[in-house]
Amino acid sequence: MKTREYTFFGGIHPRSYKELSNKYPIEEYLPKSQVIIPLQQHIGAPCTPLVKVNDYVKVGQKIGEANGFVSAPVHSSVSGKVVAIEDRPSSSGKLVKSIVIESDGEFNYDDNIKPNEDINNLKPEEIRYIVREAGIVGMGGATFPTMVKLNPPSDKKIDIVILNGAECEPYLTADHRLMLEKPVDIVHGLLAIMKALGASKGYVGIEDNKQDAIKEIRKACKEYEGVEVAVLKTKYPQGSEKHIIKAITGREVPSGKIPAEIGVVVDNVGTAFAIAEAIKYGKPLIERVVTVTGEGIMTPKNLRVKIGTPFRELIEYCGGFKGTPGKVISGGPMMGIAQYSIDVPVIKGTSGILVLPEDMIALKNPKPCIKCARCVDACPMNLLPLFISAYSLKNDFDKCKEYHAVDCIECGSCSYVCPSKRPLVESIRLAKGEILRKGRK
Ligand code: SF4
Ligand code: SF4
Repeated sequence: MKTREYTFFGGIHPRSYKELSNKYPIEEYLPKSQVIIPLQQHIGAPCTPLVKVNDYVKVGQKIGEANGFVSAPVHSSVSGKVVAIEDRPSSSGKLVKSIVIESDGEFNYDDNIKPNEDINNLKPEEIRYIVREAGIVGMGGATFPTMVKLNPPSDKKIDIVILNGAECEPYLTADHRLMLEKPVDIVHGLLAIMKALGASKGYVGIEDNKQDAIKEIRKACKEYEGVEVAVLKTKYPQGSEKHIIKAITGREVPSGKIPAEIGVVVDNVGTAFAIAEAIKYGKPLIERVVTVTGEGIMTPKNLRVKIGTPFRELIEYCGGFKGTPGKVISGGPMMGIAQYSIDVPVIKGTSGILVLPEDMIALKNPKPCIKCARCVDACPMNLLPLFISAYSLKNDFDKCKEYHAVDCIECGSCSYVCPSKRPLVESIRLAKGEILRKGRK
C-alpha cells in the first residue's frame, strides 16, 4: 500500500546539500571559557537580569526573568562567574544586552533542577508552568515563546498539534539527527503539548527524503492513540507553518491570523524534545542541536551545544574554515541571517552555522525584470513578487499593501528562481516592515 504524501502549491526544489552532515551522529560540545547569554533570544519582551557582575551561577539557574506574557526566561548553561552584563552583538544582527559568564569547567547543576512527575500524572496547567519556567521557545528559528502557544485564546479550541520535522532548508540536519536519535522523547514532547492543549490528534510532519527518521518516529508513535507520522513531499518551504498545516489538515490560516484560529498548533521537533527534557529532568532550555556545515567548513558536524557558545569555537571544533569563507550564515541559506562576526553566541533559535566559500557566493548584479513569471509560479503564498518588489523599490508601500505584501513569509523562493537576480525578497521584506510600522502608528 502506498503511503499518502502531503504537499502544497508553489515552492521550489533547491539542492539539499544535506549529505554533508546528515550521517554524523550528534556530538556533545562543551564551551571552553566564556558563554554569552543574550537577555532576548525570543520574540517578545527582553528579560530582566536576576544576577550581577561577580555572582557565581550554576547550570540551569535562572539568570533573566521574563518580562510579560510574550517573553521567556533565560538560564545559565555553565557554572562559573558573571564577568559582564552589557550589550553584545547577536546573530540577529543587533546589539543585545547579554550576561557573559566565565565557565569554571565544572558544570555544577543548580539545586532547583529536579525531575518532574511523569506526563500522565501532570495536569495541563502544570505542563504549561514547566514549559514557561524552562524558557522554551520555537526552536525551528521562529523563537516564539512556546508557553504562549500553549495558552490559546479561551474561545479557540485546539484539536490538532503538528510537530514540524520537515527541515526543508538546504544544508540543515539538526532536526533529522534528533528524530533519529531521540524519537521517544520527541513523541513524549508531542503528547505533553497535546495534553496541555486538550488536543486529540498529533502529527509529526516529516519530508520523504528522511525515510530513516520516518521509520524511527513511527516506531515511537506506535503505542499511543491519536499520534502518527504525516509524510510530506520534499519541497521548499514545506516547513513553513501555514504550508505544513494546509498540507496535513487541509485547513487554511486566514491572512493576518494565527493557526489557533483554525484549531491547530505547530511546534518544531526540537521544541518537543526540549519540553520532554524539561519534564523528565527539570532541565531548562540551556542547550540545543546545531548543524555546523557548508562547503566552507573542514568537517561538518551536528553538535549538542550550550546556549551562549560563540560560533568561533564551534567552527574551530569542526576543523576551521576550508578555503576563504565567503559568507557565514546563522540558519540555512534561504531564511538564515548573514553574520558579520563569528564571535556571536548560539541562541535558542540557532539551528545551524553555514559557511559558504567565496567561490559559491554569486555576485548579484540585478538585471531588468523580463516578466517571465517564474517568481509567481514559485511563490507558495500565491503572491505576485515582481509587482510587490517593483512598487517597494519605488517606495509605493500603499500599492505593496494592495498586493498583500504582508502575507509574504520571506521564504526566498522568488529570489531563488529569478533569472534576472532581482532583489525580490529583500524589497518585499522592506515593504512589509513599512506597512506594519504604518499600521502600528
Ligand atoms: S513573495 Fe514572499 S512568500 Fe512569495 S516566494 Fe517571495 S519570499 Fe516567498
Ligand atoms: S522571476 Fe524575476 S525576471 Fe521573472 S518575472 Fe519575476 S522578477 Fe521578473
